[in-house]
Amino acid sequence: STILVTGANGFIGTWIVGHLLKGGYSVRAAVRNEGRGKHLLDIYESYGARLKLFAVGDISKRGAFDDAVKGVDAIIHTASPVHLSADEPSELIDPAVGGVKGILKSALKNGSDSLKRIVMSSSSAAIVAFSTAPVTVSEADWNEPPIKECEEKGRDASSLAKYSASKTLAEKAAWAFYEKHKPEIKWDISVINPPWVIGPAIHEVTTVDSLNASSKHWYDAIVREDFGGFSPLTTPGHGWADVRDVAMAHVRAMEVPSAGGERIIISVGSWVWQDWLDVISELSPNPYPSRTLPRGTPGICQRAITFDMSKEQRILGIKFRMMEETAKDVLADYEHRGW
Ligand code: NDP
Repeated sequence: STILVTGANGFIGTWIVGHLLKGGYSVRAAVRNEGRGKHLLDIYESYGARLKLFAVGDISKRGAFDDAVKGVDAIIHTASPVHLSADEPSELIDPAVGGVKGILKSALKNGSDSLKRIVMSSSSAAIVAFSTAPVTVSEADWNEPPIKECEEKGRDASSLAKYSASKTLAEKAAWAFYEKHKPEIKWDISVINPPWVIGPAIHEVTTVDSLNASSKHWYDAIVREDFGGFSPLTTPGHGWADVRDVAMAHVRAMEVPSAGGERIIISVGSWVWQDWLDVISELSPNPYPSRTLPRGTPGICQRAITFDMSKEQRILGIKFRMMEETAKDVLADYEHRGW
């Protein structure tokens, strides 16, 4: 069967495409333009005609996915802007919400009878704000304060609020569309809510500064010792998961019948920067000998947010990579690239 993957050239998207090809699927990789997809064709050359590019332009453009959805059996929608440098909230909100509504509308209009499921990448940012106070959250929670912050402060809202509002509003739009059209569609939706996604980057990256946002943040903290002005013992106090597992979660959510109609949190556990520094200092052999990495201030870490993982375990049951493996593979990649 053929799967449409949007954001196929992104950090997570590139891994999803690989998992699908390995699993025997054919992939229609939606990219902004053919040039953005060339690297995908290069790294997955051995799969031949099972991987095809599909240029869709900007995802917020009306009807962007009208042709891309035709004849596919499932859709994995990851495309959405991920950065913390927007001026106006609308720079993130419009493409995030427009992309989700657009792909659902196109599926409603042009989806074939074989279309069974649409999986969407939402985020833990649609569940909970960063917190330094201990809190346990589940799929029943929604991160709504950033929407209000963006409405009230506009371009002066925090950059995290702008991104979080884009993810909360996009996911809410997906569920509203689904509820409204349920009686007339033969497919359903499933939403994946990952926290910080860390891991080796196999998408097209030429320089450190062109890394995707979460990978760049990890490099800045771990290599450049830039913790955003906070103690590594207390920040960011959030969940994390390896990009390969987050990608697999999308594939499983597409395959497992009971994932339909569910939002599912993905998280290995709560962490602060010091946790990574401690794990890295113990790695042997050292995967990144060309640099001396910071040790931080070993001490009592304050991990604030606990994600309730019972739904993930019940429905997807992924065996997650631990920090040692993720850190080792990312640092080996830096060594290999000469960063
Ligand atoms: P990347 O920035 O690596 O990938 C984003 C993808 O979306 C790219 O393919 C990009 O295309 C595409 N895209 C963004 N805006 C547009 C647009 N206006 N028109 C066309 N294409 C667009 O991000 P990730 O892989 O990290 O993120 C993928 C998804 O996962 C997102 O929905 C994100 O919110 C979610 N997520 C990510 C987390 C993380 O820590 N990385 C955590 C939780 C959720 P192009 O390359 O052409 O710009």
